[in-house]
Amino acid sequence: MSRVHVIGGGLAGLSAAVELAPQASVTLYEAGPVCGGRARSFYDKALDTEIDNGNHMLLSANPYTFRYLDLLGARSTLKGPGGPLFPWFDLVDNKAWSLRLSPGRIPFWLLNTQRRVPGMTLKEVWALQRLMKADDDATVAECLSGGAFSRRLLEPLAVSALNTDVAHGSAHLLGNVVRRTLAQGGRACCPWMAAHGLSESFVAPALRFLEMYHASIRTGTRVSALKQEAGRVVGIETSSGAVELGREDFVILAVPAPVAASLLPGLETPDQFESIANAHYRVTSGIKPRGVVAEAGFVGLVGGVAEWVFLHDTVLSVTVSAANRYNERSQEEMLATIWGEVRRALDPILEVPLPKEMPPARLIREKRATFAATPEQNRKRPGAATSCINLALSGDWTDTGLPATIEGAIQSGLTAVSALGFRSAVAESV
Ligand SMILES: Cc1cc2nc3c(=O)[nH]c(=O)nc-3n(C[C@H](O)[C@H](O)[C@H](O)COP(=O)(O)OP(=O)(O)OC[C@H]3O[C@@H](n4cnc5c(N)ncnc54)[C@H](O)[C@@H]3O)c2cc1C
Repeated sequence: MSRVHVIGGGLAGLSAAVELAPQASVTLYEAGPVCGGRARSFYDKALDTEIDNGNHMLLSANPYTFRYLDLLGARSTLKGPGGPLFPWFDLVDNKAWSLRLSPGRIPFWLLNTQRRVPGMTLKEVWALQRLMKADDDATVAECLSGGAFSRRLLEPLAVSALNTDVAHGSAHLLGNVVRRTLAQGGRACCPWMAAHGLSESFVAPALRFLEMYHASIRTGTRVSALKQEAGRVVGIETSSGAVELGREDFVILAVPAPVAASLLPGLETPDQFESIANAHYRVTSGIKPRGVVAEAGFVGLVGGVAEWVFLHDTVLSVTVSAANRYNERSQEEMLATIWGEVRRALDPILEVPLPKEMPPARLIREKRATFAATPEQNRKRPGAATSCINLALSGDWTDTGLPATIEGAIQSGLTAVSALGFRSAVAESV
């Protein structure tokens, strides 16, 4: 039986390992104490509860992610409104509205002023066409029209999907997202989130699946070098010793871009990154929203610092993407500003208003949350195949055609599996 060494226990590595486990003997090397990488849950002492490093939202148009969850029996660990519903609040004029897309490809919702973006004109919708036809050099800003449709929908969509501001973000990458989501109609745009935590949805079920196939999971094992000879990887140096590889051994490198570049000198990878900040507030009295926010479980904000507010039973979690622009702001300042914005947006629809005084809170800044999704960085993304016959690359930063997302990471794991000649869902669906 072939042996496959998967290096990196984030979602790309887990996706590859899960796909391979029924076909090969799999060993997974993860440097950290637990798997999950940039999508993980942990117990936070200050808040005395389990939180995710960052809120993650998925759309129904993420076929490889839902296939992964189905394989692991974990789809039921997600929650969402069950339809294409997005409540919004504009902090500039205190305007609340809901975007309710029509399910099919004909966008009837655009004709209904109660379901579309307030203040928009139909002419502005051409921006979607410009994004889908954008060439590799275009930025998102060059495709937008400047009206309410852009300010209240496309800009927030771009910043959260690309994790890059619209002045620098790649229109081509955003166009790929639009083609799979808005252009397909509401059925492709239903939002989903982990009901109890990222690890419970994406990590623990994968580890149970791998155990079932007797895969070896080596957490706390950092790979420090790959020994190559005559176009093959012949050895792996790890923090717990060296591993010699033979003719039946294959390697999938599923580590972040800077680590891949250090293990494979000469490999070109994205080298600029954007941060994401997540503010978590522990609200002991319980959060009881009314109306569409209760239905959706989240609300999108425009016109301030906070972008997405996720409502859990006793924790409010707020996402701020493309957060390098706030590097100079202190933790206290960020937490206080965001708390003020959240109270303005939520108090009108909560049964019990939020306390004026900020509750215990935690700001997590993931400094290298994703590569900066600019046209220039997008061109630096390598494919899965390498010059070594038994080595393939995986990770959200490889050339998936998508921004750095869960779907991109899971897809990249499958692509690496097929690049090594094993069966994978990517090869089957081509
Ligand atoms: C705060 C935040 C919010 C996000 N929000 C969303 C969202 O809403 N929707 C969405 O789709 N995506 C979102 N993303 C992106 C998503 O989390 C990532 O695209 C995805 O998790 C990347 O997975 P990966 O396996 O490619 O990389 P990683 O998760 O980085 O995994 C790489 C793994 O390799 C390990 N490793 C590193 N070096 C070594 C070594 N030398 N030896 C062994 N192991 C090593 C690391 O510890 C890590 O576990 C978000 C990301 C962040 C940070």
